[in-house]
Amino acid sequence: MLRPNDRIAVAVSGGKDSVSLLHILHRIEKRFPRAQLIAISVDEGIRGYREEALKIAHENCRRLGVEHVTVSFDELYGESLDSIIRRSRSHGKLTPCAYCGVLRRKALNTTARETGSNKLATAHNLDDEVQTMLLNVVHGDPWRLARVEPVLTSEHLKLVSRVKPLFSVPEVETALYAYLMEIRFQTVPCPYVSESLRNDIRTVLNGLEVKHPGMKLTVLRSFERIRSALKEKIEGVQLRECEVCGELTVGSLCRSCLSLMDLGVVKSKQQG
Ligand code: SF4
Ligand code: ZN
Repeated sequence: MLRPNDRIAVAVSGGKDSVSLLHILHRIEKRFPRAQLIAISVDEGIRGYREEALKIAHENCRRLGVEHVTVSFDELYGESLDSIIRRSRSHGKLTPCAYCGVLRRKALNTTARETGSNKLATAHNLDDEVQTMLLNVVHGDPWRLARVEPVLTSEHLKLVSRVKPLFSVPEVETALYAYLMEIRFQTVPCPYVSESLRNDIRTVLNGLEVKHPGMKLTVLRSFERIRSALKEKIEGVQLRECEVCGELTVGSLCRSCLSLMDLGVVKSKQQG
């Protein structure tokens, strides 16, 4: 996942997983003097929620002496998530998390690249990954399962390689780590979380895990067994530059530009 001379950008939201990951990587990287660590937080613009998370992310970075960079949807796309969601409500489009996920992924990649990082570490844990796997199945998009993996190496200069060090670590363990290490993290949930299909899948999986301990890891391992077969199927898919923002995508427009254009949000930094 990581090399001794990597410049690693850690995506830090202020929640228990990302703050724990920052502390863990900081501890490990101390043994590698050529490695560098920076933290990136994305301010989506979720009123009454993100402000506290950013403060906590900043406090943790200061405690560890890690450089902290914050980027906002407002500055990147010209609108906050709250405002994008207000638009989407009147158009009856996607769920808040669908917009948030696509736009945040792009914000993280762009910022990691602009800060000279060659690795982007995210705190996706076992629970997140199993939810994503099932979401892809439920959405009828099994080919995306091929991309759910702990290391996504990129050959393209525009796409920073992504690593997920907590890939097979249960969420409950990252929470335990944070409590034991007395790490401060945000405990209030995002106001939009209950609207997502992911949240329903999370509830089902948590119920199953209580009745059948170890089930989440079994699901993850099952999908891992079929990953290489899925990869063979999608081999040859070429990435190209989005016609609007220039970021890499498989079609002529990236998902982020597509969703923003769909809502009539045309004013963005990339779009000029
Ligand atoms: Fe974004 Fe959804 Fe997470 Fe809220 S719960 S921060 S809207 S992805
Ligand atoms: Zn684009």
